Amino acid sequence: LAKQNGKNHHEMYTSTMNINTSKTFSLQNDLRKALVKDQFELYYQPKVDAQTNQIVGAEALIRWHHPNRGLVPPDDFIHLAEELGLIVPIGEWVLRSVCRQLKLWQEEGYQSLKVSLNFSVRQLLQTDIVETISTVLQENRIEGKWLEIEITESMLIEQEAETLKTIEAIRQLGVHIALDDFGTGYSSLGYLRKYKFSTIKLDKLFVKDVHINEESAAITQFITNLSKQLNMNVVAEGVEYEEQLTILRQLKCDELQGYLFSKPKPVNEFEKMLNKHIL
Ligand code: C2E
Ligand code: MG
Ligand code: MG
Ligand code: MG
Repeated sequence: LAKQNGKNHHEMYTSTMNINTSKTFSLQNDLRKALVKDQFELYYQPKVDAQTNQIVGAEALIRWHHPNRGLVPPDDFIHLAEELGLIVPIGEWVLRSVCRQLKLWQEEGYQSLKVSLNFSVRQLLQTDIVETISTVLQENRIEGKWLEIEITESMLIEQEAETLKTIEAIRQLGVHIALDDFGTGYSSLGYLRKYKFSTIKLDKLFVKDVHINEESAAITQFITNLSKQLNMNVVAEGVEYEEQLTILRQLKCDELQGYLFSKPKPVNEFEKMLNKHIL
């Protein structure tokens, strides 16, 4: 009997595995077709000036409209896109869409809006990435200074010399570079010495309890002080409560981003906020 149970158990296990594998497989196939089927959309989340509450910029965040699964968040497919080598064309689509949108907003009179987008390491390692960015900027007739590329620390470890050169060349185009999710990775101060970031994005992790945890507040203060000295802006991510807002202002964060102000929104809804200008 025991043997039989064991066998049944094994069969059950195998069939579950098959289901999972075929699920992943179909997701892969769907992802391969998503670009041509025009299933991606960029949502925009406002960044507000910590002192005035005015919208000063936005972060573009990708969404995938899957025909059966509905709206798929990036954490569920970016990793797969990286594995499949699809992140390069997807990333280029993001870059083009952001620049086209920026131009439209500028034409509508929002002339000092900065927009940031997220990069994957694979994109940064593309040999023609600087040329691509430069071309897209020219095609849309926008200055590099309105664009910011968010990268994470983990991206700086691989092929350091190449990455450093690429980031410098992107900076030469006037494009800003932000260090995303600061505090969650290696957070090596050495990176701050070596790379010239315009912005540090303080991770949600610290923001979460900055109003009740002295350590989080102290670390935030350290980062904002250091950033002043190094001429960088500090953006706090994941601001959800008034209490966090109050302390982040006191600690001299420059900009704030989070559900307290707005979730990431489709273009038309983001524009409604822009029209009001003050949230
Ligand atoms: P990220 O760049 O750190 O983006 C911030 C994430 O935090 C976003 O999740 C945003 O919706 C979420 N968030 C914003 N405010 C709050 C808040 O107050 N509370 C909480 N709990 N969360 C908040 P999202 O849009 O799901 O994106 C997740 C990650 O996917 C991003 O993290 C980024 O690493 C990646 N990603 C998004 N779009 C792209 C893209 O176009 N290309 C690449 N390579 N990665 C992307
Ligand atoms: Mg980001
Ligand atoms: Mg982040
Ligand atoms: Mg992240």
